[in-house]
Amino acid sequence: MTERRAKPRDSKGMRKYFLAMAFFLLAGAMLSGYARAQGEVRLSYLGTAGWEITNGKTVILVDPYLSRLKIVTPGEPVAADDDRASVGLDDVARPDTAVIDAHIKRADYILLTHTHIDHVLDTPYIARKTGATVLGTESTINFARASGVPESQLMIVKGGDDLEFGVFSVRVIPSLHGILRHSPHASYFPSTPPSTIFPHDAKAPFRVRDLVIEGGTLAYFIRLSGVKVLVFGSMNYIEREVDGLRPDVAIIGAAVERREIYRYTPRLLRDLGDPRLVLPTHWDRFNVPYSTSQEPAIQRVQSFVAEVKTASPKTQVIVPKYFQPIVVKAQDRAERRK
Ligand SMILES: [Zn+2]
Repeated sequence: MTERRAKPRDSKGMRKYFLAMAFFLLAGAMLSGYARAQGEVRLSYLGTAGWEITNGKTVILVDPYLSRLKIVTPGEPVAADDDRASVGLDDVARPDTAVIDAHIKRADYILLTHTHIDHVLDTPYIARKTGATVLGTESTINFARASGVPESQLMIVKGGDDLEFGVFSVRVIPSLHGILRHSPHASYFPSTPPSTIFPHDAKAPFRVRDLVIEGGTLAYFIRLSGVKVLVFGSMNYIEREVDGLRPDVAIIGAAVERREIYRYTPRLLRDLGDPRLVLPTHWDRFNVPYSTSQEPAIQRVQSFVAEVKTASPKTQVIVPKYFQPIVVKAQDRAERRK
């Protein structure tokens, strides 16, 4: 038998040939698009310690705080051109629902690191609006419940939990809060009690003063569409709890508080096996609107970028821009699942 190439000989055959080629090209493109969707996540910075992490189907928010209240505190001057009302410690803390609605359309899960106002304030509104499930410490969940989030959407988690939600999984990492602002060297709220738990029987509305309770701090190791993201919400960690994790992306607290932690950046990067991407978080000035220039903060965070580059030269560092997604593709699927 002679082998014959499928070569079109007439115009009709030619048309069939091109139709078949077009079909295969289209199918191939669709398949590769599907594969991409399966192995790719988008991370968008919401400011402060807030992130949206999504694979296009499931939307996970971490510490979403978009209100950026004009809180007047020592060492944090407000912007001269910010015409919003100032908020003091004794004022009721109200989320800016217009700003939230402009940016948050949907959410499936909200992961909270601790109960401070710049992490939790907007969550009750977002959870009620989207129906998202809220994960956090007992302290944080007490605040969410007292702020009207239905019990069916609340989940108290503890360091060591490793939860499978089907569409993603998350290991809850015991962690610590940065200490500088509460240390004897730089007292922030002199009358603030030490870290305790937000009371389970507290009644809304809450004042700013009520939301300075840390309530313990967690970090989260998220596995979504083959991409592993470790996300912190403050400038500290427990070395033995992070040692050996192998995230593709490490979202690391980069405010000046980190300087009170012994070898903060090199120790963490070594423990994490030099992740391929580091995204600094909690580095911006967050008592000003999104429209205020962050140039001084961007300059300030360069020292953190330099620390990463020195400790882990192959790691890419991106200082995120608000709401501009950073796309991360899944790498070696055979890699050991941590
Ligand atoms: Zn905090």
